Amino acid sequence: MDRVGTRVDVAIRGVRLDAPVRRAGGAGPSDDGHLVVDGANAAIPLNPDSPYVVRDGRLYLGGTDMGLAVRPVRRPRFYDLATADGVPYEKIAKLHGSDVLATTVVQTCVRYGEADRCRFCVIEESLRSGATVAAKTPAQLAEVAEAAVRLDGIRQMVMTTGTTSGPDRGARVLARSVRAVLAAVPGLPIQVQCEPPADLAWIGELRAAGATAIGIHVESLDETVRRRWMPGKASVPLAAYEAAWDEAVRVFGWNRVSTYLLVGLGEDSDELVAGAARLIARGVYPFVVPFRPMAGTLARRDGVPGPAQQLVREVTERVAALLRAARMTGAEQGAGCAACGACGALSTAGG
Ligand code: SF4
Repeated sequence: MDRVGTRVDVAIRGVRLDAPVRRAGGAGPSDDGHLVVDGANAAIPLNPDSPYVVRDGRLYLGGTDMGLAVRPVRRPRFYDLATADGVPYEKIAKLHGSDVLATTVVQTCVRYGEADRCRFCVIEESLRSGATVAAKTPAQLAEVAEAAVRLDGIRQMVMTTGTTSGPDRGARVLARSVRAVLAAVPGLPIQVQCEPPADLAWIGELRAAGATAIGIHVESLDETVRRRWMPGKASVPLAAYEAAWDEAVRVFGWNRVSTYLLVGLGEDSDELVAGAARLIARGVYPFVVPFRPMAGTLARRDGVPGPAQQLVREVTERVAALLRAARMTGAEQGAGCAACGACGALSTAGG
């Protein structure tokens, strides 16, 4: 198997390893151990039954060295600190990969009722388990970001949020948080992530606050898939996403806007790739990621399996080729999931 095939396979089947930096739950599509694979961030499921194992810093399948250097991300020093009122920094923001600070500013979502919830998401599970706090104040985020940069060499920050009920859909609290963090750590690249705000002026507000990049995550462009997998979010029409992406490209710039596309929700792969091509043409980076049936998701409860390795590999390679042709790289997002790359294999495939 070549590097892309191995990277995709290990992302799906996981690895046997004791990684000190991991997340179990939270927003979005992954729960993983954080590793560095051949120098790049990689979020890989920790699976005691995986055929992959890490020995002496190398990835093995059975007895075969797969040609990839792997090291777990070390526990960051900022995890040992707490705010003056006793909240551990680790409950305010997490280390993703080796150099990304990630936080869910509002850990609740108006769409978390069972009828509306995205079937791959566990945003409120980490809240229930006590691993995080419901709302992080701008002052807390600034304090943690300053420490994470100073003590652990953090190079960028991702701020996501559950969707709030107001027309800003969470953008207001993101803008306040960005301003506070940048006052404490001037110049830190920050990506914000939210649903399309009903009032598109919020996108300009986020840019004016100093955010480098924005993720407006649709997960699928297929209406049938959207209604089945994201019944709440599917109430926001695709046209609203398109308007938000275009406004975001206007104010943030070409390749400073991204969206997730999840592989394995049952969509047609040709249509998925064609949709990715349309996103690229409008300046939006399609971050292709395998769907993972994480513990705590409705999908896992219902026994929905993750996608086949071959499907993820095919889609990843086709989208990476489109990105290369458009001279669009995740790194050029400057901040955010596409810049980090850990949850997908696009960067390994040359995107
Ligand atoms: S791709 Fe995004 S969610 Fe995944 S580890 Fe990187 S910053 Fe975190």
